[in-house]
Amino acid sequence: MGIWRREIITFLLLFSVICVIGLFTKLFVPLLLILTLSLLFQHLYQINRFEKWLRTGGQGNYPKTTGAWEELYYHVYRIKKNNKRRKKKLSKMVDQFRESTEALPDAAVVLNAGDEIEWANKAAREVLGLRQGDKGQRIPNLIRFPEFIQYLKSKQYDEPVIMPSPLNNQIILAVRIINYGAGLRLLLAQDVTQLKQMERMRKDFVANVSHELRTPLTVLKGYIETLQDMDEQVSPLLTNSLKNMQGQTDRMQHLVDDLLLLAHLETKNKKHEVIDIPTLLTQICHETEATVGEERIKLTLNCDANLVGEENELRSAFTNLLSNALKYSPEDTLVQLHWYQTEDGVFLDVIDQGEGIALTDILRVTERFYRVETKRSKKINGTGLGLAIVKHVLMRHDAQLIIRSELGKGSCFKCAFPLKRLGNKTNN
Ligand code: ADP
Repeated sequence: MGIWRREIITFLLLFSVICVIGLFTKLFVPLLLILTLSLLFQHLYQINRFEKWLRTGGQGNYPKTTGAWEELYYHVYRIKKNNKRRKKKLSKMVDQFRESTEALPDAAVVLNAGDEIEWANKAAREVLGLRQGDKGQRIPNLIRFPEFIQYLKSKQYDEPVIMPSPLNNQIILAVRIINYGAGLRLLLAQDVTQLKQMERMRKDFVANVSHELRTPLTVLKGYIETLQDMDEQVSPLLTNSLKNMQGQTDRMQHLVDDLLLLAHLETKNKKHEVIDIPTLLTQICHETEATVGEERIKLTLNCDANLVGEENELRSAFTNLLSNALKYSPEDTLVQLHWYQTEDGVFLDVIDQGEGIALTDILRVTERFYRVETKRSKKINGTGLGLAIVKHVLMRHDAQLIIRSELGKGSCFKCAFPLKRLGNKTNN
């Protein structure tokens, strides 16, 4: 039977007893008053006990009682017990999380919306030089590297920022910020010193080898040219061999030149000069037309925007895109170049009607030495470094290379420059 039903039945029973006694003794009203007052008193007493028990935190077992009050005590006691268990579990989890993050080799710092430190692990203290007492301090006041402050302000956390450790500038850190929760951010700093050292060694090695190869190559080329001049076409075998040798040394020369250019792009300081892009594009097109014919290239200059950057680098990138478009499309098709400006930026589109590139290859063509293997492309000479150079040059100009292509229909290579790169002449 439900507790409330039992309470009502008890009350009805008492009420009936009073009715019967009241009928015989004619004292119905006083008896009813006594019953009501005693019930009221009992409940007031229970409320008082209940409030006292709650006030003392509802610790331990609840007081002995009966009926609906016992039920009430029991429910509150159970809720409290469950909460206690949950709290214990939660604090165990928090402890475990704290212990694991303390053991992390990477520095971890929790920042609030105001860039203030909420919490930092042991590695953060060792690598970033944060102290226990720095809680509540604004992180830009403690880590003062301009690149880091700019990264923090930018709210663009897709790529990590590379900076030296504030404690030891021999240690290189990759710092990344991750948004989570309401306005909270997790800052992770990883030691990438070894990785950067290896990267530098690779760059130095490629640059040195390429440089060292230049002299023997020039000597070889010289000898081949001299032999070709002396060749009196008596032996077709010799003539053919010399031609092949010349082709291969030319290829090697291209490879070495491209590798050296890439190495320079990775290490050279950026130059900032205003480049007249319409004139540069016109020059590139004229020079290329001399070898492929006027009817293959159409240049449309929809704006006279100039860019701030390095002329030789942009010349090399645009030439690579144009020569690829010509190389990878049939000789009777047109290659179009459009130079235009929108409210989003300044763009150069290089459009061909060639063989196109499959989607899986589009993702890889800018990798070094990656060449798409088709029957036709196998016959076309190339180093697989052209688009890697384009990508690097554009990166150095804060620009992006966007490739759209459809197999059998053609490709569009778009160089997208931000408006901040516009040269003074058009800015004014
Ligand atoms: P490569 O020296 O081989 O031309 P790139 O880095 O310039 O090296 O290009 C990489 C690969 O991308 C090329 O081998 C080719 O398969 C493909 N590719 C580049 N441009 C085009 C294009 N306009 N149309 C079709 N395929 C292209």
